[in-house]
Amino acid sequence: MRANAYNGCKRVKGNIVARILIVEDNALNIKLFCDLLAAHGHQPEAVTDSRNALDAAKQFAPDLVITDIQLPHVSGIELIRMIRKDEQLAQVPIMAVTAYSAQGDEERIRAAGAQAYVSKPISVMKFAQTVDQLLEHRGDSAPTGESQESSANESDGGGGGGPTEAGGEEA
Ligand code: MN
Repeated sequence: MRANAYNGCKRVKGNIVARILIVEDNALNIKLFCDLLAAHGHQPEAVTDSRNALDAAKQFAPDLVITDIQLPHVSGIELIRMIRKDEQLAQVPIMAVTAYSAQGDEERIRAAGAQAYVSKPISVMKFAQTVDQLLEHRGDSAPTGESQESSANESDGGGGGGPTEAGGEEA
């Protein structure tokens, strides 16, 4: 019986910069993200149950999807993969938001098909900047680099060392 729950996302009046779908099970985060996005002129829409997220995305036709990773039922990683496989949505940029930034998480999230990753608790500035960056690249969303690894090259075990972001330092 329950349709997609809309928690805290108000209708934005006037010209909309972008339509942004939020998939997040935490009501406080939804409120925060909605308010932030609306303040930047975006029209957010929130889905709390990730099982409804793919259908909601097809209906809403967002310019950007922001998804939590820790979600009941369908994890954010699974959802990202589903979106990437969907004909209609394959090109939509995805920003993942996650509370745990264990080593390797970012790679896993990017490998699933998200373009960006922001850790919780979010830095408001980083959140807004990342949204802007992803929206700027609308249209030229050719997957960059490694997402389509065809060679079974497993020889680089433990090859961290990449530009992983040191968490916890930005206040
Ligand atoms: Mn969650």
